[in-house]
Amino acid sequence: MKDLPVSWGLIQTEWIERTVRVVGQSASTRENLHHQVREFVHASTQILKGEAVDLLDPILAQWASSLTQTDLESTASDLMRFMSVLVTSSLEALMIHLTPLEALAMFRALLPCFNYAYERLAQHEIEAKITYISNRLNEVQQRLERLDKSKSDFIAIAAHELKTPLTLIEGYTAMLREGLHQQDANTAEFSLLLDGIENGARRLRGLIEDMIDVSLIDNQLLSLNFQPIWLNHLFAILERELQPAIEERRQILQIHDFPGSHEVLMGDPERLLQAFRNLLNNAIKFTPDGGKIEVSGRELPGFVEVTITDTGIGIDPHDQSIIFEKFSRVGNVALHSSGKTKFKGGGPGLGLPIAKGIIEAHGGTIWVESEGHDEIRCPGSTFHILIPKRHPSLESRVADIFASFTQPQSPSE
Ligand code: ADP
Repeated sequence: MKDLPVSWGLIQTEWIERTVRVVGQSASTRENLHHQVREFVHASTQILKGEAVDLLDPILAQWASSLTQTDLESTASDLMRFMSVLVTSSLEALMIHLTPLEALAMFRALLPCFNYAYERLAQHEIEAKITYISNRLNEVQQRLERLDKSKSDFIAIAAHELKTPLTLIEGYTAMLREGLHQQDANTAEFSLLLDGIENGARRLRGLIEDMIDVSLIDNQLLSLNFQPIWLNHLFAILERELQPAIEERRQILQIHDFPGSHEVLMGDPERLLQAFRNLLNNAIKFTPDGGKIEVSGRELPGFVEVTITDTGIGIDPHDQSIIFEKFSRVGNVALHSSGKTKFKGGGPGLGLPIAKGIIEAHGGTIWVESEGHDEIRCPGSTFHILIPKRHPSLESRVADIFASFTQPQSPSE
């Protein structure tokens, strides 16, 4: 272009200031914006003096790279709005320092810079949006793949787990039928076969109940029946219940008296028993014969922490979060056997998700610590369970109960 007007320095300052005033909101953004606009204005000056318009490229690329996730998600473009302000401010600045005709001539000279900027920014923005959308699509695809895998896992595991007790029931029923035709069959034999059928039916029921519980937890429909509970009572019940399995596996189950275990907490005793039973059954299952399982804990501000430690095969750090997901298989599906206490017996992979769902419904958390999985060295695992000392929704229930006590009774009651 021909020579720049003598007031060009003033025009540049005015142009920068006006743009920053309109766009910049906070002091920190204003400072950065000032720098960005100054760079654009200086590059435009060079272009007016004869430089190629692509001198703007690095500046525009930098603007495009500053697009945030919100910009990419929204349909309105912040960069385009910014360009409009930049263009309008340039015209205003020109009009202040030049005659209308001079201003128009300068504005026309600047138009190639503006056109180029609009074009490049639109291009950058479209590219960024395409990358963003394809990343989102990838995420969705990965989620769908995981869902599909979990569905296949479910079918494989459920089919295997459901078939095992059914085969048992069928086998014992066939034997029973055969026995009925034999003259010398005695009652003791029949009773043994009936035990087998009962056992198979119990296992089937257990599995179906677990599946229902997982679905209740998934749909946040698990309802708890809150009442005063004592952890030492719950563990005393479980100690008695698990004694036969502990004896069969020649293990030691040590339940310590720990701070907080005698304290009255509010919780659903049946559901908490179920959660701790699942954890203790796992500890028995994944600890070799002769191993030790310890229940201990401590009081923390607002919580009681329970720890269940075993001297078993341990859990790989990579698997430590996966095992709390439903149908997580750390082993092979074919090895799953519905064995409740058999060494490495496996199961449908519902025990931990249910325990987690129950603890979380109480407002608590559960996690596991283990050095890793090693069936020779047996590093063991420790499950930590935090139970809140009071459940928030409970206080209103307790208040309701007390309110009902103080209400005068009607004569008919
Ligand atoms: P299931 O026992 O039915 O397979 P769970 O949800 O109870 O399902 O456990 C999931 C997996 O976590 C188990 O298959 C096992 O691999 C691992 N696991 C759970 N508890 C322990 C433990 N105490 N020691 C070692 N591994 C464990």
